[in-house]
Amino acid sequence: MQKCVFCDIVAGKIPATILYQDDKAIAFRDIHPQAPTHFLVIPKQHVPSMAELTSEHKDLTAHLISIGHEVAKREGLATVEKGYRLVINYGREGGQEVPHVHLHVIGGRMLSGAMG
Ligand code: AMP
Ligand code: ZN
Repeated sequence: MQKCVFCDIVAGKIPATILYQDDKAIAFRDIHPQAPTHFLVIPKQHVPSMAELTSEHKDLTAHLISIGHEVAKREGLATVEKGYRLVINYGREGGQEVPHVHLHVIGGRMLSGAMG
């Protein structure tokens, strides 16, 4: 497999501020935060993108989303008054740069209404 920065984080080869982990997934702070709270949720197994996150991974996909909400709760964002945004980038025009599928969880300020 090609070198993957997120697999290196899973393996503990490069540091990250880890907010949550279990046997299937890990959440850590984004190194270039776009908002006061910006963390990523990834599967521990190397799944390159949304294209490979198929129906056979549906439990894993639901698990990643649920971790996003649970960690957002710990960050004080999981209320209707506060809130957060979940983003998954895919492909060149979608802006995916790291080829290991990840959910961005972004919040802690009023987010732009623009989706792109
Ligand atoms: P994307 O453009 O959707 O592929 O997003 C990749 C995200 O990974 C960007 O927001 C980067 O800031 C973030 N990122 C890249 N390397 C690291 C790292 N070593 N630790 C934490 N976040 C990272
Ligand atoms: Zn990987």
